[in-house]
Amino acid sequence: MEFKHPDILHIGFKSYKIVQKDLSDEDGVELYGYVDLTTNVIYLDPSQESIDYKGTMLHEILHVGFNLFGLGDDDEMPGIRNEFLTTITSNMMQMLVTLNPELFEFIFSRETPPESVENVYNIKSNE
Ligand SMILES: [Zn+2]
Repeated sequence: MEFKHPDILHIGFKSYKIVQKDLSDEDGVELYGYVDLTTNVIYLDPSQESIDYKGTMLHEILHVGFNLFGLGDDDEMPGIRNEFLTTITSNMMQMLVTLNPELFEFIFSRETPPESVENVYNIKSNE
């Protein structure tokens, strides 16, 4: 099964291809997705639940975004604080969502009927 969504992630000056591929046997490790930062390709395994697939896609997109904003490999991570992480994450999300509206509509599209949301509001507070 293939998920329907744009197969490209724009970051402004270049773009990443999004490829759906069976990753179950890759190097004997169970992988749901990964990004190749040298070839600019995001690989996602479509054989997972829709909600997990979307989560994997968001995960890989965030790897691309944080890499773009200077957070590379784990062994190159600088000491970072809340304000810095919040600022780059906020800027990164606004930029990525602006450049890729349809991709983020797919990622955040509703999975379950709204009953589960209604239940939150139906709980009566202690009065
Ligand atoms: Zn990861």
